[in-house]
Order: sequence, then C-alpha cells, then structure tokens
Amino acid sequence: MSDLPALFISDLHLDPERPEVTELFTEFMTGEARQARALYILGDLFEAWIGDDDDNAFSRAITDTVRAVADTGVPVHFMHGNRDFLIGERFAETAGCSLLPEPSVIDLYGEPTLLMHGDSLCTDDVEYQRERAVVRDPAWQQAVLARPIEERRALARDVRARSKANKRRKPLEIMDVNPQTVQETMRAHGVVQLIHGHTHRPDVHVVDLEGRTARRIVLGDWHAVGSVCRCDAQGPRLEVLEPKRPVRARHR
Ligand code: MN
Repeated sequence: MSDLPALFISDLHLDPERPEVTELFTEFMTGEARQARALYILGDLFEAWIGDDDDNAFSRAITDTVRAVADTGVPVHFMHGNRDFLIGERFAETAGCSLLPEPSVIDLYGEPTLLMHGDSLCTDDVEYQRERAVVRDPAWQQAVLARPIEERRALARDVRARSKANKRRKPLEIMDVNPQTVQETMRAHGVVQLIHGHTHRPDVHVVDLEGRTARRIVLGDWHAVGSVCRCDAQGPRLEVLEPKRPVRARHR
C-alpha cells in the first residue's frame, strides 16, 4: 500500500463535445487510478456544471467513472475549479468522493502540501478576482441553484462566452499566478510544497521563501494530452499522459 503513488489531476474540462478527452480520462480511471494511494481532482473536471440536479447522460457517466475508482477503495478527493464550483454534496455522494475545501493542506509522505485550484493566485487579474468573489459567495450560489435548469444553462453559456472573450482580450501574463501572492500564500500555510492547476502551464517551479526553497507544481490541462502528478516516497513527478488516439485540437 505504502508504495502506491498519490495522483493529482485538474483541468480536464470534460465536455460531451470532446469524447477523446473523456476516453483518456476513462482509460486513466480504469487503469492507474485504481492502483493509487489516493486520487486528487483539483478542479475543472467539467467544462461546465450548472447544479447536481442537472441530470444528463454525460455527467452520469463521469460520475459513475469516479464512483468505480472510489469503490475499489481508493480515496477520491475533489476540489472546486472555476468551471465546476457548483458541484455539491449530492455529486460527491453519488461519485463516492469527498469535497476538499480550498485551500487544503495535506500530508504527502511527511511533506505538508498545499492544494489549490489556482485561480485565486492570479491576483494580477483584478476583474477576474472580483467576479470570482461573486460566484464563490454561498448566497449567490444558492440563488442561482434555485433558478430553473434552462435559465442556468443560458447563464453558463454567457459565462463561457465571456471567459472566451476575456482570454483573447487579456495579456497572457495577467492570467498567470502572481509570484508575490504565491509566496504569501505558501508562507501563510507554512508549506514549502504547493500543487495547483488552472493556468494550463504545467511546470515545476522553484520558489524562494526567504531563503527556504519551496516547490510549486502546476498541473497541465487535458486539451491535447493528459497531465498527472504522481507522488510517492521519492517525491512528486509531473508527467504527460499520452492518449491512445490523438485528441482533436481545441477551437475555443
Ligand atoms: Mn480553472
């Protein structure tokens, strides 16, 4: 048991329009995910989520895929991203996973490790942070979830269109993490190891925390290939998951 790695993934953006990514995810979940010490999904598993009551074949299939891993005895943890922040207890219960608060510090082979989705670190994007504060407000979420499904679908379409337009409009640098926010956040949690996603810039960064060397692991998205961080007693390794058949280029 102790030799099994803990696995970290994020930013799959699963969507019925891109079945190749779902296939790659299914392969991962029926394969190595079942040989893990634990599986951590750090947000944006879904491209969109408008409420646990939106019953459809696609979400049901993904939920079952997660459930099947949990049923083998692997603890599965889910943290909200900025696309699927409306995932709730009902999903967690059906999928057999726990909802991990953001941020969370876990013990990873003796190393306290901070887990985040990552969008809250992008503080240069003031406009985004303002919108984030709104949509992460429980009162706002309850009001939205009380609206009819059709209305929520339309709202999700709007949000996606706006996010697409923003990505074109905003300089690339503004959408990355702010280095000072990273340092402050890591210091505040007393960690020298951070794992997050969101920026779609997979890399392992060395962070200088007032003389202490810290590590920031950024998970990649699953747009062309998959991305997974495997962590065992030897430490974390950020690796690419090659699909059996190529994933179509994403036009968005
Ligand atoms: Mn994200």
